[in-house]
Formats: sequence, C-alpha cells, structure tokens
Amino acid sequence: MEPMNAMMLESIQDLSRTDTPLVCRQVPVPQPGEHEVLMRVTACGVCHTELDEIEGRTPPPHFPVIPGHQVLGRVAGLGPGATRFSDGQRVGVAWINRSCRRCRFCRDGLENLCAEFSATGRDVHGGYAPYMTVHEDFAFIIPERFSDAQAAPLLCAGAIGYRSLSLCQLHDGQRLGLTGFGASAHLVLKMVRHQLPDVPLYVFARSPGERDFARSLGAAWAGDTRERAPHPLDRIIDTTPAWTPVVEGLRNLAPGGRLVINAIRKETADRDALLKLDYSTHLWHEKEIKSVANVARSDVARFLELADRIPIIPEVESFRLPEANRALMELKNRKIRGAKVLVMDPD
Ligand SMILES: [Zn+2]
Ligand SMILES: [Zn+2]
Repeated sequence: MEPMNAMMLESIQDLSRTDTPLVCRQVPVPQPGEHEVLMRVTACGVCHTELDEIEGRTPPPHFPVIPGHQVLGRVAGLGPGATRFSDGQRVGVAWINRSCRRCRFCRDGLENLCAEFSATGRDVHGGYAPYMTVHEDFAFIIPERFSDAQAAPLLCAGAIGYRSLSLCQLHDGQRLGLTGFGASAHLVLKMVRHQLPDVPLYVFARSPGERDFARSLGAAWAGDTRERAPHPLDRIIDTTPAWTPVVEGLRNLAPGGRLVINAIRKETADRDALLKLDYSTHLWHEKEIKSVANVARSDVARFLELADRIPIIPEVESFRLPEANRALMELKNRKIRGAKVLVMDPD
C-alpha cells in the first residue's frame, strides 16, 4: 500500500506557545500482527485526554505517536490467526488497547487496572491516521443505528460516563450532581434520565450556555461551580480537568455521599484549591472520593448496547484529519458545541 499521511505527536508541547502540537507525517500503513486487524479509519473522536498527552500529564512512553482513541473504521486486512471479523466489517476501538489477561485484575474483569494496561493513541498508535491496527479481541462491534461520527464519542466519553455512573452505585430517589457539562456529562445525564427517572440531576457548569443546555435536557437545577445546590447530593460525578469543582463538590455532598472523578489526569492550574480542603466541611460524615480509571472492555460493550436501546445519539462537530490541531485547540479553549470528531476523506 501507498504510505499514509498521519497526524503525529513528536514531543511534549506547551500549548501556550504553539497551536500546532501535531505534525503531518508520511508513514507506512501498519501491518496487522498475530490476531490483529488492519482498520481503514473513517472517524476518530477528539478527547481531552489528547491534551493530557500533548501537555505531558499522561505522556506517551515513545515518540512519535499517532493519538486518537475513539476510532471507527472498516476491516481492511487480517493478521495471522485473526478470525473474529471479516473484510469490510465496521469496528470501533476505545482507550483500552490491550491488557495482560492473566493477572487478578484481568481475571475479574478489571482489566482497566492491569499493570500492563496499554492505551490506544498513547502507548500504541491510534486513529488520527487513515489506517491503524488493533487486536481483534479489543475491537468492538458498533450498533447500526449510529453513523461513524456519532459512534466515536460513545467509545470514550460515553463509556467512561457509563463506568462513572456504575461506580456511583446510585439508587432511584437519590440526588446526583454533575460538575462540568461537556461530552461525558451530557451523555451521563441522558443515561440517568432513562435508567433512573426519579433521580434529580444538579449540574454545575461555568458557562450560562452549558447551564441552559443542561436544563433543556432535564436537569432539575443548574448553577455555577461555586454555588451551593438547593439540597445535599448523594453522588457527584466530576468531569472537569480542575480541582475547584472537586472541593466545591465535596461541600455539596450529603453524609455518606460519594464523589467520582471521571478524568485520566487533572490540570495543575488551580491545585491550590486543595489547600481549602477542610476535614469537617468536605470529608467528615463518611464522604468518599473515587477515581475512574477509564474503561474495561465490558463498559464499552455494555454502554454501546445501552446507547442503542435508549437511544443516545451524540451531537457531533466534524473536522477533517488535517484540521486536528484546530479541533484540539478549540477543546483546550473550551469551545465546546458537540463532541469533536475527525472524519476521514473517502478513498
Ligand atoms: Zn477519551
Ligand atoms: Zn492484567
């Protein structure tokens, strides 16, 4: 095959000094190894985690790397021993790219906690390219209802939102707060409205536009990050890259409440907010904080099935592959309309 033009990250970048962190490079089309499939990529979501990689909060172990972990494509080749898919079939790839499958975490379905966990688009090449390879057991079948672009944000924002909600162990009648109202939080809201209709939702967001959007989707209340909710909340899912919403969220928790942090890394700009943590106000009465280590395969598979059933159709904003830097900078500068998705040119 002809070489392909991929968007690559060649080193950690300071986004206050450059707005073109990725460079376009001509590289060979990858060959599928044992039990791998070659995918012709059709769409790839743009995620805040790419900014964490670029700015070094979760640095790739090797450079250059092709980012992108919400990947849709068609099977375009099979490696030795690969039998699960056939040529032309549609498949998706998420953040979880590989795990050891032998350790106690993997055996318990907690492969997201495996010491050998490998992430798509960080530890191995991802989907900001016309082709990529993936182990057949870590590729997902996508329900027909969704277009490629619509399915992309389901693979990360949706799947991690699903895991966050599972870790909340929420019951009908309890109150749920959401801090931040980007791609993941708005998918969580839609899931809760469907699965637990008697759970009122309280949304904390900085922009009035996001608060209006939350109310229009059925939030019982929406306010600024520093506001007090009208009632103490039993569970809160934090989807922001910052610390202030965590500290403020703990203040809003009811006794025995749990705050779940849905983020791979936190930014450091407002880390000082943690010094305001006061034991009696923020933690006393058995309040808990729990992080979400992204996703196991079961989260992705179950969420895709649920999104099809509800249905949840994400709002997406499309970019061409060479516009990846612009999409990333808009995400950095919080110009969020829908989930951003790179859509590949047809052959
Ligand atoms: Zn992601
Ligand atoms: Zn393992």
